[in-house]
Amino acid sequence: MKDSQILISGGGLGGLSAALALAESGFEVTVLEKAAEFTEIGYGIQLGPNATRILKRYGLWDTVATTAVFPEAMVFLDAIDTEEWARVNLNEAFLARFGHPYVVIHRRDLLGAWLAACEKHPRIQLLTSKGLAGITDHGQSVEVRCEDGSRYVGRCLVGADGLLSPTREYVVGAEPPRVTGFLAYRGVIPIGKVFDRTYDRSVIGWFGHNIHLVQYALRAGDVLNNVAVFGSPAFARGESEFGSPAELNAMFEQAHPRVKSMLEYISLDRNWMMRDRDPISNWTRGNITLLGDAAHPTLQYLAQGACMAFEDSVVLAKRLTEFPDDPNRAFLAYQKQRVLRTARVVLTARAFGQVLHAGGVARDLRNDLYRGRAPDSFFHEIDWIYRGIPDTEF
Ligand SMILES: Cc1cc2nc3c(=O)[nH]c(=O)nc-3n(C[C@H](O)[C@H](O)[C@H](O)COP(=O)(O)OP(=O)(O)OC[C@H]3O[C@@H](n4cnc5c(N)ncnc54)[C@H](O)[C@@H]3O)c2cc1C
Repeated sequence: MKDSQILISGGGLGGLSAALALAESGFEVTVLEKAAEFTEIGYGIQLGPNATRILKRYGLWDTVATTAVFPEAMVFLDAIDTEEWARVNLNEAFLARFGHPYVVIHRRDLLGAWLAACEKHPRIQLLTSKGLAGITDHGQSVEVRCEDGSRYVGRCLVGADGLLSPTREYVVGAEPPRVTGFLAYRGVIPIGKVFDRTYDRSVIGWFGHNIHLVQYALRAGDVLNNVAVFGSPAFARGESEFGSPAELNAMFEQAHPRVKSMLEYISLDRNWMMRDRDPISNWTRGNITLLGDAAHPTLQYLAQGACMAFEDSVVLAKRLTEFPDDPNRAFLAYQKQRVLRTARVVLTARAFGQVLHAGGVARDLRNDLYRGRAPDSFFHEIDWIYRGIPDTEF
């Protein structure tokens, strides 16, 4: 039986960022990851300045900046008539306002940066093939049983084990996530195969009625990341089988031929269901708390799920530094600080998804309201997201 100050279940972006933040604050950490290796899917992720600031804080910036792409704008296009209905500058004006850049990066490069820093850290132990199977809270310690029968004891436990978190089940109870009926198919292709490069310096989205296609370059511009999302009619009809490639193609029939043709970039081997959970006000039980998707999974429409996990990590480490001998007190203080901010992300993402996927008159109204607005005029509406956590947390 191994002893460690802090156990973390899950070594995704949330678990590794928490491990580094806690170790940098002086704690001994053991990360227990279910998979046989620490890895991420082979697609892209967007990071706002609230997250890039955190990468800088933990010394990851130089590594990240070598492969990240710095888009010049976020462009919103109508998938039916291809008209641009909104644009948010991510250029010098954005940098001047938010202090840190907006980047897009390959998920493996991002996880790799956290992993390399964790591997080097003398206070972090990283273990794979350690799926959490049981938790016992002894009061002064927490004992974790893994699927392979091994046991680990720590002063406290952080559940960073994702949307279907077993730690959450222990803390909050077993409740399945909310299935929205929207699905994503993804694809990454060499930039040389892209036939329309009008927007390849930006993050762009083509939006139609219950469909969208998001595109941005990765790996210093060598490849294009594509995510096609649609609301499944079969799901809406209550059928148990839904989300096939045939449904994807049928939903994109409404799109302009220019948009439809880009479905070629999408791989049809696998899809991802869009799920979230209603926000909750308590995700702590005794000396056990949750972080990232385990605590507050969100739809991706604000591109903030991983960014929130990074913020969680900074705040968690700070509160544990303040109350090192009382993890429960530290966890309640951490949670108090994170509940409303993360709930705002979850609920705003849902609402924004409806704006993005509008059809009929709602679509006309959206385009009419947004079109013609100056690209910098959106800044005050996104301040709450991108200004991030208070400076005092750093
Ligand atoms: C289509 C899509 C696009 C997105 N785009 C963005 C974006 O642009 N920007 C952004 O910030 N966010 C984005 N997100 C959200 C982001 O991917 C997640 O919020 C983030 O990955 C959550 O990290 P996490 O570490 O909390 O959970 P996860 O990444 O799910 O990691 C959980 C880890 O726990 C492990 N685990 C699971 N069960 C156990 C167990 N029993 N024991 C031990 N370990 C276990 C898993 O193997 C995994 O390694 C997007 C999500 C989707 C679906």
